[in-house]
Amino acid sequence: MTLFYWNPQLETGNALVDAQHKHLFELTNRLADIVGGNGRLPEVAPLVDELMTYAAEHFCAEERLFCKARLSTEATDRHICAHRRFVTRVSEIAARDDLGQAEVVSEFLEFLVNWLVSHIMQMDRRLVRALPLQRPSDLAESFPSVERVLVSALIETDRRFRLIAEQAPVLIWFSGPSGVRDFVNKGWSTLLGVPEGWADALAWAEFIHPEDQARYSACLAHLSASREPGEIEYRVRDSGGAWCWLLERIIPRLDGDRFIGLIAAATDITVMKRLTENLEREVADRTEQLEILARTDPLTGLLNRRAFEERLQSEIALARSGGRPLAMLYVDADRFKRINDDYGHGAGDAVLAGIAATLRTAARPVDHLARIGGEEFVLLMPGADETTARKSALEILTAMPRVRFRTCPESITLSIGLTCLAPGDTGDRFMQRADQALLRAKRGGRNRIAVLPRAKAHKT
Ligand code: GH3
Ligand code: MG
Ligand code: MG
Repeated sequence: MTLFYWNPQLETGNALVDAQHKHLFELTNRLADIVGGNGRLPEVAPLVDELMTYAAEHFCAEERLFCKARLSTEATDRHICAHRRFVTRVSEIAARDDLGQAEVVSEFLEFLVNWLVSHIMQMDRRLVRALPLQRPSDLAESFPSVERVLVSALIETDRRFRLIAEQAPVLIWFSGPSGVRDFVNKGWSTLLGVPEGWADALAWAEFIHPEDQARYSACLAHLSASREPGEIEYRVRDSGGAWCWLLERIIPRLDGDRFIGLIAAATDITVMKRLTENLEREVADRTEQLEILARTDPLTGLLNRRAFEERLQSEIALARSGGRPLAMLYVDADRFKRINDDYGHGAGDAVLAGIAATLRTAARPVDHLARIGGEEFVLLMPGADETTARKSALEILTAMPRVRFRTCPESITLSIGLTCLAPGDTGDRFMQRADQALLRAKRGGRNRIAVLPRAKAHKT
């Protein structure tokens, strides 16, 4: 875990000195890792040795600069003294028997942090400022103690933020104005299975679900332009290759009026999302089942009267707009009451199911078949003229008596009324005419087809 981040305020302006200071940061971070429990205490001793080597090289390099610097002898002596004190202190620590103890390591870390802040920020900057060929910006700077205190406070705040960001069970990232992430916390590295501190903007897009990428980029662009906070749900690929849903809150960062980037915190909502999806699917399935039930006759599985009337309306409209014929067969079982009386209601039910099966066999795929009453059925035939409808009716009439029933030894016959849609027909009038045709078939002796032509619609 990186606890102390190098930041431009720590630069002295001398490349060699800065490079060596960065090395000291790295050593301090390794020590912080050990204190934080990520490293092992026995690793402290080699680290202290490394620190001694660092100090020897770094102080040597710095002290070579003294002869070039326009510093008073007194200031030079003070600086060299500070170096000696550092070496003495680190040697003392290195010589301790209890170097493996956690408290000693913590104390050591505290000493190093103080050194980082006070020595680098104060003495080393003063040294570099006293060198010729300094950067003009450095020359203009001075470091009164108030500023030093403020910088220390800033570093401490940054350290606390990073501690929270690393340990909190949320996914945190922040970016500069371009939206390129320059920090992602440990939660991200764990989730995606990438090295800690990884924040490569280009590779980032690869982790976002292809269907969410455009929406996500648009969201960032919108928030950056509007400077208003916002939320987005999107999917990322986790370390195991599975897609997980995140809910992310993104807040634009402003410095006064200036937009300086984004900061975002996300939580994994995959489980919640799956539950919601399952629930929605279940509700949709149930609703569909209920809708089917509401339109189906339970005994035969055919459409019921309500569903049929809906189909009738839409087929009438289609027939009119397409200039196509539409025929209807009104089918009724002959002397069905007797079946019930002689063989029982159960046998009657089986016969009704058998009639439905016979009608289904004769129906064309485009036809609508419904049971609209006790032993009454209708077959609506889009595109069928009288000849076609008569053919189907005949097929039904011929097939029905051949059907055998386990619980009823009798042959079943049907009567069929046939009519075709007339220009002024409403659904009701169309059905009434089919019913009248059926009545005619019954009166004619049953087991037959009667046709009521369109022209005779109003006469009967
Ligand atoms: P017709 O040839 O004139 O049509 O004579 P029918 O006996 O078929 O006609 P009717 O209208 O007198 O009798 C219809 C019978 O259908 C009466 C009723 O008990 C029976 N029925 C209605 N619905 C059901 C049902 O769901 N199951 C059974 N088993 N019988 C039913
Ligand atoms: Mg009947
Ligand atoms: Mg009847």
